[in-house]
Amino acid sequence: MEEKKEVNTDRVAIVTGGTRGIGRAIVYELVSKGIKVVINYRKSDNIANQMQEEFGDMVRVYRADISKRDEVKGLIAYTLQEFGNIDILVNNAGISQTKLFTDISDTDWDTMIQTNLTANFYTIQEVLPTMLHNKNGDIINISSIWGVTGGSCEVHYSAAKAGLNGLTKALAKELGPSNIRVNAIAPGIIETDMTNDYSEEELANIRSQIPLEKIGNAKNIAKCVGWIVDDNYTTGQIIEINGGWNI
Ligand code: NAP
Repeated sequence: MEEKKEVNTDRVAIVTGGTRGIGRAIVYELVSKGIKVVINYRKSDNIANQMQEEFGDMVRVYRADISKRDEVKGLIAYTLQEFGNIDILVNNAGISQTKLFTDISDTDWDTMIQTNLTANFYTIQEVLPTMLHNKNGDIINISSIWGVTGGSCEVHYSAAKAGLNGLTKALAKELGPSNIRVNAIAPGIIETDMTNDYSEEELANIRSQIPLEKIGNAKNIAKCVGWIVDDNYTTGQIIEINGGWNI
């Protein structure tokens, strides 16, 4: 007989970087499934306040720079105080930078690794006591196609995302016996503020390399998150959503 995933009726998620782009679409997806969400962000107070108003009691918003351990501790404590539990962690917040490898400064390198890799080490370590206590949890890391294939002029970004993929697989093995699933989604190119800098010519060139001949949208990624949180037999996977860009 098919085994259904045992879930609390009142599931609680944290989405880092939930105010814009992919994270924002993930918040909409989770709330539409009746999941309460703490929306983390770093700067965009106005958007966060609008989302609080729009979703009312289904969400809380919390400003924290996730590249800082103390601020992550604050985010987790606030979630437990407001919603009493944590079932799902979506590590979505991230930054990008396009530079020749020879131009990457020590500060560029450190900021990239700290925000796109080490921050996820912090968030996961801080939610784990709750998930281990529950013997249940979903950790979803938003990685990138560049973490799989490598991206020219984004070596520090690619290295951080490849590190996140390694973290995902290793931790899935370690946490499997505790019934905590760890997966990553590696998007191709998705229309968000992060990709605003591409010129029309660059976008046309990218489209021509993608079998489905189009740029993705944030909902394509959010729908996958919605599926993962309802499944109980997928772990350690790097799920590539890219229109077939990397076949
Ligand atoms: P985005 O539109 O630039 O949004 C980034 C979000 O992350 C914002 O909500 C931002 O908060 C938050 N953020 C950034 N640094 C933070 C920090 N230190 N602490 C807390 N929040 C922080 O980016 P996106 O395109 O949606 O990307 C989301 C994720 O998908 C990233 O991990 C990115 O690497 C990955 N990805 C994106 C693409 C793509 O084509 N767009 C492709 C592959 C992978 P504020 O609003 O407050 O600044």
